[in-house]
Amino acid sequence: MGTEFNTADFEAFISQYPIYEYRLLNAADITVEKRVRIVCQQECERYNSTWACPPAVGTLEECRDRIHKYDQAVFFSSVAEVSDVMNMEEMLATRDAHENLTTEVDRFLKNMGYDTFTLSTESCDICEECAFPQGKPCRHPDRMHPCLESHGVVVSEIVEKQQMEYNLGGNTILWFSMVLFRSV
Ligand code: SF4
Repeated sequence: MGTEFNTADFEAFISQYPIYEYRLLNAADITVEKRVRIVCQQECERYNSTWACPPAVGTLEECRDRIHKYDQAVFFSSVAEVSDVMNMEEMLATRDAHENLTTEVDRFLKNMGYDTFTLSTESCDICEECAFPQGKPCRHPDRMHPCLESHGVVVSEIVEKQQMEYNLGGNTILWFSMVLFRSV
């Protein structure tokens, strides 16, 4: 029998961190959309440049199957404040804290005995130059998080369906991640 997710333990854990909201999702309910992949391909300069992006993450069908191999997912947001939301550099600088938080959530679930898979923000920038264009394996597969969009996940739809906040206005940014998990 699998490990039952302990909400009280999880809430005690996240109370130490600036998680703004979270929801527990059934992985089977998470859908993937081809239109997201098209946006990656047509509008993102990271497309075809990292292991965390399409096409390296696999076909949309492979991404969907990967998500559906898990039982549940913790989908959560964290909030950051900046002096100017139009300043891309400042905005992206707040992303590191969210990525670290995502790694902590992943670690917590692993320590609870789950097998996990994490999807997070933007594409991976752990290395100054990704190994993907050189045809070499990812240097940090245990730390690398593909972005939610790379797997065709529509964040705004989940947020709406789950009645979460997508935008707090002012000079704030909400970052979103998802840690999928299954009993082993
Ligand atoms: S960890 Fe390095 S090699 Fe792996 S996806 Fe990230 S940038 Fe690329």
